[in-house]
Amino acid sequence: MTPAFGRALVTGGAGFVGSHLCERLLAAGTEVVAADNFATADAGNVEHLLGLPGFRLATRDVTEPLDEPDHFDVVFHLASAASPRDYFRLPLETLRAGSYGTEHALDIAERDGARFVLASTSEVYGDPREHPQREDYWGHVNPIGPRSVYDEAKRYAEALTSAMRRERGVNTAIARIFNTYGPRMRADDGRMIPTFVCQALGGEPLTVAGTGQQTRSICYVDDTVRGLLALAASDLPGPVNLGNPHELTVLRIAKEVLSVTGSSSAIEYIDAAVDDPTRRCPDISLARRELGWEPEIEMAEGLPRTVDWYARNIPLEPLR
Ligand code: NAD
Ligand code: UDP
Repeated sequence: MTPAFGRALVTGGAGFVGSHLCERLLAAGTEVVAADNFATADAGNVEHLLGLPGFRLATRDVTEPLDEPDHFDVVFHLASAASPRDYFRLPLETLRAGSYGTEHALDIAERDGARFVLASTSEVYGDPREHPQREDYWGHVNPIGPRSVYDEAKRYAEALTSAMRRERGVNTAIARIFNTYGPRMRADDGRMIPTFVCQALGGEPLTVAGTGQQTRSICYVDDTVRGLLALAASDLPGPVNLGNPHELTVLRIAKEVLSVTGSSSAIEYIDAAVDDPTRRCPDISLARRELGWEPEIEMAEGLPRTVDWYARNIPLEPLR
């Protein structure tokens, strides 16, 4: 059962994960204010929620103080570019969303005595030297490479969140989210799943980076959102990994997309991204033990649902 919270602030609420989170919160009877500046997503993601009595969409840049007049019981801080293509394009904005943005979201939680949930990321582990990644692993991050604008912003956000808990008693939680996929990821955000799905549906070659032997563990968005809600409803400070521990190579994921779409697209190898993590897989023992949470929707179910959404919602060239 989805927990209810009174009123929630969701920064980045018009984004991919944020829009699903808003939906689930509203369905459980929580009032929701989604704050977004539409840097990497558009209001179309929450269009179906506009007009619902408990929902308000506020155009806000989290790098400015969030002087929201409402009182909040929970603050979910998701506002940040999240795809490598987006944060390579928006390096300074990404650093500012993770630093000033997190501070402003924490200020609201402190003001209202609200539970605060930070959407951190598996990227804090960088290109990890330990597998699977447990929360007590400190990571292996290049602090000056192009990915650092995201990785270090999130590491700073975790440090700030932890200090606000220790020094000011704010009721904080940190979720380290692993690769999440599903409907409403922007078709052109450059991430693996929307890229492969749109390429397969459009009859274009699937662009596999490097050897394709690097791994990811992909989690369906409904599972990730359920994890965020369970964390918010608990008093666990985290960090806690939220992800699906089913580790696959990128090449295997590309082949799964070909199989689900029935596409005859070729695989085209392209240059590997700089500092691309070679292996990524969450250890979710902590979430299982403390939150009673684990993923329920495996790729065999989540990928067809995702493909179906893109086929219905994204205009594509006809299959060749
Ligand atoms: P997304 O790009 O779809 O959503 C991010 C949202 O934040 C967008 O709506 C964007 O417009 C908004 N935003 C960005 N900067 C802002 C600012 N300065 N002020 C207000 N709004 C701003 O990405 P997503 O995949 O939904 O990611 C959501 C959160 O979850 C991010 O914090 C991301 O780091 C985290 N996360 C996501 C994944 C994943 O696989 N999707 C994995 C790890 C962590
Ligand atoms: N990738 C790929 N082709 C693409 C986009 C991504 O092979 O068109 C690879 C990318 O290099 C990485 C993996 O897929 O190894 C996951 O990339 P994504 O951008 O989805 O997320 P990341 O885990 O890197 O944040």
